[in-house]
Amino acid sequence: MVDLAGQLKPIAEEVNLVINNVIENTSFINGPAVANFQKNLENYLNVKHVIPCANGTDALQIALMSLDLNPGDEVITVDFTFASTVEVIALLKLTPVLVDVDSETFNINIDSLDSAITEKSKVIIPVHLFGQVANMDEVIRVAKKHNLEIIEDTAQAIGANYKFSNGSKQKAGTIGLIGTTSFFPSKNLGAYGDGGAIFTNKDSLAHKIRGIVNHGMYERYQHDVVGVNSRLDSIQAAILDIKLKHLDYYNNSRKKSALKYTELLKNHKNIITPMVLGDEDSHVFHQYTLIIKDADRDELVKYLNQNQIPCGVYYPIPLHQQKAYQNDKYEEKDFEVTNSLSKSVISLPMHTELDDEQVEFICEKIIKFLK
Ligand SMILES: *Cc1c(COP(=O)(O)O)cnc(C)c1O
Repeated sequence: MVDLAGQLKPIAEEVNLVINNVIENTSFINGPAVANFQKNLENYLNVKHVIPCANGTDALQIALMSLDLNPGDEVITVDFTFASTVEVIALLKLTPVLVDVDSETFNINIDSLDSAITEKSKVIIPVHLFGQVANMDEVIRVAKKHNLEIIEDTAQAIGANYKFSNGSKQKAGTIGLIGTTSFFPSKNLGAYGDGGAIFTNKDSLAHKIRGIVNHGMYERYQHDVVGVNSRLDSIQAAILDIKLKHLDYYNNSRKKSALKYTELLKNHKNIITPMVLGDEDSHVFHQYTLIIKDADRDELVKYLNQNQIPCGVYYPIPLHQQKAYQNDKYEEKDFEVTNSLSKSVISLPMHTELDDEQVEFICEKIIKFLK
């Protein structure tokens, strides 16, 4: 699905050099590499504060911890996402409220969001799924109306640009009160290990979050709040700093492959190719995901695997059906889209080293299977 070795090749020398630097300086924790990367990412995203942390799941948890919520407060997010998004809500004894997604963009459905709001709703977590920014104009409208905070889960969409209805543009993750991301190796900006970050434009919140990631300490050995230990290590930061310079190139390569896939598959009767709702740069194609209709998705997966073509199903089971997140209040009719997507989606190989020939080969096989 990804070609991390191929992506490393052109930057390998530089990567080895910075790894050696960190080792020689022995600045393993919170060294200058972390501060540099933080600053460069702030500039890239045009956001006032980046707070690095250990992974994307921690980033979400810490974002929620910074909001002074109480047990039982409701946090609304989507049924169709990776488990992290809902996991941290439950872990903090907040109440996850899952809502359905839009059938074309796979992102939060605004009507479902609207009807999920109660007196106890406090936060909305839109997930920019597969690299496409959710409809933030509408999310903000709903949030303002009901006085809710927004945490954007940007684990899959770093570098994507959102164009507001008034024409102005902003990077994904910097639009809500807080944004979070992951530097898991296969993400669009991937480390060579775990990593994550939290974004905000609000000074007081950034200060608070910097304490939370460091055991709740604002002065040494003075613990003002219950915190966690969540750090991006210096070696990962140094590597990410190199890769950040290439992020736009990486995202453009993904987009080029996506366009090629779409060109070759869009007219097939059994295939719905991904819909890009906004401008071209509003989707950074973390995944290239098709909907297969009137054909057996699982058989297609098997067929591709038999032909040495990797593929993935994200996500095969809706979160509301997962044992850990079941809730008597949920009704299947409220999750029609997620239920259907979980049975019909397939994600194809998508990475920065993919070439036209490979895309053509993959598409040929898919079309051969579907006939
Ligand atoms: C990858 C991912 C996360 C979690 O990131 P980790 O770094 O693996 O903890 C959270 N949300 C979404 C949508 C993701 O894709």
